[in-house]
Amino acid sequence: MNLDRLKANLDSVRSRVAQALDQSGRPSGSVRLVAVTKRSTPELVRPLISLGILDLGENYPQELARKFELSAAVIPPPRWHLIGHLQSNKVKKIIGPLGSTLVMIHSIDSLKLLDFVGETALAAGVSPAVCLQVNTSAEPSKHGWTPDSLLADADRIAAPRAVPVVGLMTMAALGTTAETARGSFVRLRELRDELATRTGLALPELSMGMSNDYETAVLEGATHVRVGSALFEGVEE
Ligand SMILES: *Cc1c(COP(=O)(O)O)cnc(C)c1O
Repeated sequence: MNLDRLKANLDSVRSRVAQALDQSGRPSGSVRLVAVTKRSTPELVRPLISLGILDLGENYPQELARKFELSAAVIPPPRWHLIGHLQSNKVKKIIGPLGSTLVMIHSIDSLKLLDFVGETALAAGVSPAVCLQVNTSAEPSKHGWTPDSLLADADRIAAPRAVPVVGLMTMAALGTTAETARGSFVRLRELRDELATRTGLALPELSMGMSNDYETAVLEGATHVRVGSALFEGVEE
């Protein structure tokens, strides 16, 4: 494992995020870097934590539960994020077992799932924050609300639950560049503003931006970037 490479990758990502924040006049530290560990071995959790990356994101609930268990002794404990599709029959694998180390589910993609996650969290005595996933690129393969259906559901989204709805999440279309992704990010920010007005919820969080477009996402207001390959390139060779 090449930890010097990991450190160099991290320094590069951090400085690009800082530069984008500076360029857009936002305060430093207003973006949370979520390291997407889905293609990495669990042995990387400890080095990541010692480099100060406390926010770790996984796509699959089972894999999240497994990495959580394998890193149970790591101090400080990681803050876990689920960023991939969550089927209702997998909700209890992570809500409850991970306790308060599950800090955010980025990928709530239906009202039914939102309600079920709320009930499960209430029963387990936890309250992970949730973002609602919006398909801003209109790709049929992507999960989530369409912009229109999201606004149509505003009243039901605003109903009280054990899990606070804190913002929106999107993925740019496959194959987009940093520039062509910009439209998706702008759309998500505008939708957030509109949904906040309709619901009265604050909705401060925008989870958007991956390895090839995170700087653009920060320029357009991202508060969480989800970065995998740019951090782990060359690390496990
Ligand atoms: C894999 C993945 C990422 C990270 O992608 P990279 O291009 O490797 O940075 C971010 N978000 C989601 C939802 C993902 O599935």
